Amino acid sequence: MSYRRAMPNPRPDQWIRVQPEGLFVVPGGFHVDPMRPVPRALVTHGHSDHARPNNAAVLATAETLAIMRARYGDAAGGTLQPAALGESMRIGEVDVSFVPAGHVLGSAQIVLEHAGSRVVLSGDYKRRPDPTCRPFQPVLCDVFVTEATFGLPVFRHPPDSGEIARLLHSIALFPERAHVVGVYSLGKCQRVICLLRQAGWDRPIYLHGALQALCDLYESLGVPLGPLLPATGASKAELAGQVVLAPPSAIADRWSRRLPDPVVAAASGWMRVRQRARQGGVELPLVISDHADWDELLATIDEVEAGEVWVTHGREEALIHQLRSTGRAARALALIGFEEDDGA
Ligand SMILES: [Zn+2]
Ligand SMILES: [Zn+2]
Repeated sequence: MSYRRAMPNPRPDQWIRVQPEGLFVVPGGFHVDPMRPVPRALVTHGHSDHARPNNAAVLATAETLAIMRARYGDAAGGTLQPAALGESMRIGEVDVSFVPAGHVLGSAQIVLEHAGSRVVLSGDYKRRPDPTCRPFQPVLCDVFVTEATFGLPVFRHPPDSGEIARLLHSIALFPERAHVVGVYSLGKCQRVICLLRQAGWDRPIYLHGALQALCDLYESLGVPLGPLLPATGASKAELAGQVVLAPPSAIADRWSRRLPDPVVAAASGWMRVRQRARQGGVELPLVISDHADWDELLATIDEVEAGEVWVTHGREEALIHQLRSTGRAARALALIGFEEDDGA
């Protein structure tokens, strides 16, 4: 039996509005992932284009709140209220629950029920296993609001294990060189560390200073990362044959000149695009993404059986065209302020 059915009145597009501040849920009186400070914000995850500072009240998972506190300190929000995964709560005239999104630690989809309709705001998500966070949980719904960061058929992410194997192979080929891998500080960094550990890499992994705080936070929240050392202060001899992780902005920068003849790598879904790798000075592109690829987007939309799909930041047009051609109502949700590079 299918969940798809006629939408009751008022339809969700009448009670969920796009405002300059972001998505506003009228009968609940709250915004989701607002771009500007609002009285009440529900936040899907800690990436900085979703979790912004200075909201008067914030509702998010405990992990997301911890990430916001680590990044913003007192500006994380006036009152911070943790949302337990899977527990429904009433806000105004809306039943709200948070369920895992599989994107980064603490990431959640926000499920809204009002006037007989169920809407899932998925935030950012992926479907493949990630040792650093809970897996995406599909929820049947009338309207599924999806990202489309990699919403083109060209984006098909290969298995992570194969990408990590290419990194380890390169280290074996060039034992006298350091391998510096560009990773986003929230999520990708810790996932690459865990994938290396799963592949048997038990040596210390060296970190650019900008990555330390969130690695410490992940460990304190129960994600073991194994031995980590600061890259700053380590000698060239010590770093030969080692893995060094750094923010993407640092890998082709003066910072990496301290490393012995570095092989420059980067872990991102964008590494599928050769030109982007070349422009960024990346010699060893690793296609490891925290976002759904084209197939995962389509499979997820099928699985949640949504009759209607609203597409946010990314390549909306191809996905909308594909969904319409299979009989679904689909439209772009014109939200501004999302950055395509957020943890991709
Ligand atoms: Zn994100
Ligand atoms: Zn995002």
